[in-house]
Amino acid sequence: MGAGRSYPSDLDVKNSETQSSKRAPTTKPPFTLADIKKAIPPQCFERSLIRSFSYLVHDLTVVWILYYLATTYIPQLPHPLPYLAWPVYWFVQGCVFIGIWVIGHECGHHAFSDYVWVDDCIGFVIHSCLLTPYFSWKISHRRHHSNTGSFDRDEVYVPKTKSKLGSSAFYLDNPIGRTLTLAVKLSLGWYIYLSINAAGRPYDKFASHYDPRSPIFSDNERVLILITDIGLVSFSWLLYKMATFAGFANVFVSTEVR
Ligand SMILES: [Zn+2]
Repeated sequence: MGAGRSYPSDLDVKNSETQSSKRAPTTKPPFTLADIKKAIPPQCFERSLIRSFSYLVHDLTVVWILYYLATTYIPQLPHPLPYLAWPVYWFVQGCVFIGIWVIGHECGHHAFSDYVWVDDCIGFVIHSCLLTPYFSWKISHRRHHSNTGSFDRDEVYVPKTKSKLGSSAFYLDNPIGRTLTLAVKLSLGWYIYLSINAAGRPYDKFASHYDPRSPIFSDNERVLILITDIGLVSFSWLLYKMATFAGFANVFVSTEVR
């Protein structure tokens, strides 16, 4: 801390907040989306099927190598080291799998190839295998990107204003409460959002990514939600069959079939 440094008074802070409010972008910016696109080099918009597939093959290869190393060497570790090694494997493998999930996300944005049907087929298989509803989420996620940060129209996360906070916010506003909230959001939040649209944009009737009648979707999109559900049920059934064949613990720990 240098000598002579002065700290802002309460009045300074208040004035600065007022200045921030004045600077809030309530008018249209002096450029358009087309101007931003023009400033980006054109090669950034070129899609390459071969390069996209190479990313997918690369990630799947890393998944296989990690799986092979884990299932070969972790069982050989002396007790109780496997109890430590398996969660480390889950974390590392999860980091690679999120890369595969992001490739599915890119398919939803039609960034994988020049062919929409190829993008949809690859994205549908990838996301179904990762228990993500491909078409349902693709549709709502597109709307999220066009309304990001809007209190009225953002699809995914609409923060509550102070006046709308319930009593739970008061009880959870402490280190333990915040830790619990984070734990639930990071472990189950994604599935709760998909199932009941928790924290999402309010609709006048029940909204769910699994329900073809949900108000999230238009009439001509409902068949895609049905296809999405068939993909999820099919992969869940495959997991169930693997569990009956190899044992639940094997599937849970390493998705291992001997
Ligand atoms: Zn996106």
